[in-house]
Amino acid sequence: MANGSCLCGEVRFHISGDLSAMTHCHCSMCRKLHGSLFATMMLAEELTYSKGEDYIGTHIASSELTRTFCKQCGSSLPEKSTNAGYYIPAGLLDDDPGVRPESHIFTESKADCYTITDNLTQHIHYGDGNTNRDIKQPEPSVKQNAITGGCQCGAVSFEFSGKPKMMMNCHCTRCRKAKSAAHATNAFVPADQLIWNSGKAKIQEYALPDAERFGHAFCSDCGSSVPRASADGAMYNIPVGSLNQAPGIEAKGHIYIGSKAPWFEVSEDKPQWDEMPTA
Ligand SMILES: [Zn+2]
Ligand SMILES: [Zn+2]
Ligand SMILES: [Zn+2]
Repeated sequence: MANGSCLCGEVRFHISGDLSAMTHCHCSMCRKLHGSLFATMMLAEELTYSKGEDYIGTHIASSELTRTFCKQCGSSLPEKSTNAGYYIPAGLLDDDPGVRPESHIFTESKADCYTITDNLTQHIHYGDGNTNRDIKQPEPSVKQNAITGGCQCGAVSFEFSGKPKMMMNCHCTRCRKAKSAAHATNAFVPADQLIWNSGKAKIQEYALPDAERFGHAFCSDCGSSVPRASADGAMYNIPVGSLNQAPGIEAKGHIYIGSKAPWFEVSEDKPQWDEMPTA
């Protein structure tokens, strides 16, 4: 009924059978693994890989959750549910699955800088009364005069001082695939303001072959998106989902709305551009 693939295209799959409605998950695990401010997941009855199963990396995120990612490009991949079916990160979909988001879950761990502006039902946990969560994740480090961040397994950590120069939501296909999410939220920080505290050697970078600049940096142990330096080394593009605190500025708006996911509507009142802002 719908096909999906990772950013590099090595992993491809087909989903069929019953598709349950999507949920936006705000838990800290999803935010770190995807690098986005929330993840959008849907449950599919059947999943078949047509290509690239040997590219799938696994990361044990909790006693009940093993998350998977593409070892070449870092996209978050489907995971098998402990009950039946597969959880599919909707950002991987190449087709419109026909279902639409129905609720927000884990709103109690929502990012401080994100405000829910749509009318969907909100659940503080799963929504089924289950509050069990045993996430293997380090406590976020808090520092004076710095914003800290890192990956989900804790191997990669960093901090920056001062405010980002800019923050933007991007709906381009590449960002959606890299984050396996509805859209990316990127903060741009001058390189001399960022310090790596651990795990720089764990960072793997994937540069999209047919793109001038686009790439994705991720932790090779857990697949989480991490900051990536610009081509000239002057700035870091920081996935806002990797941050432990609010970044200190607001996103300016939404770019590449022309290629937005068919299943996602922007509900907040902020400027939108079809591609890049012209002025
Ligand atoms: Zn890939
Ligand atoms: Zn989650
Ligand atoms: Zn990691």
